[in-house]
Amino acid sequence: MTTVLVYNNVTGRIERYYRSLSSPMPYTSGTILTVGEFRGSSRANIIWTDRRFMETFAAFRRYYGKIIPVGYAFKRIWEGGHGRQSQHYAGGSFDCGQVLSAAGRRALWNSARSFGRWSYVEPRSLTPTWVHFDKRLSPPACATGGYITVSYGSRGVYVLILQDALNALGYTGSGLDGIFGNRTLSALRRFQRENGLAADGICGCRSWQAITSQALGIGKTPTVID
Ligand SMILES: [Zn+2]
Repeated sequence: MTTVLVYNNVTGRIERYYRSLSSPMPYTSGTILTVGEFRGSSRANIIWTDRRFMETFAAFRRYYGKIIPVGYAFKRIWEGGHGRQSQHYAGGSFDCGQVLSAAGRRALWNSARSFGRWSYVEPRSLTPTWVHFDKRLSPPACATGGYITVSYGSRGVYVLILQDALNALGYTGSGLDGIFGNRTLSALRRFQRENGLAADGICGCRSWQAITSQALGIGKTPTVID
């Protein structure tokens, strides 16, 4: 069983599901997107996404009109495999079409572009053997893109990334609940103090850069919650 955390932007709550790899992801149905496809090559027992990301994928499936073969979607940041502030760690990115012909991938890419609801569709020259598209929340904390600023009271997938990264780095106590409360605040402040950052407890551009670069791809440490 895999624990799937979903931030529900309608209720403001983090929902918790326990699902087998062959069952559908929350807010999708049938075989549109299974937990196993979404988990991809991740070995994590706890994975997450946002209701909006799942609903966008389901809407894109209807728009495209065919099965979308998903190769990879989710990864935990300590597992690495993607860039420093990749939306794959947020549960909002999909790498698809590895099994399609070149013409099939071109059709999927064109459809993802014309769909108009993905935040980003990677140029085909960058990923010629798959199609990457993602949904992300904005505005990003850094002008160059990436994650939104999170602070006390924030909820959702970016808080989960922050908690996961802090836990992996040994700044424990913040749990893995997607809610930025007192324990996340003190863990972040401790990280900021020990890394020469202003200990304001706000995870903005500089804190994200420091945290994600330290946590990226370091593997499952003894302090990871999974
Ligand atoms: Zn990707």
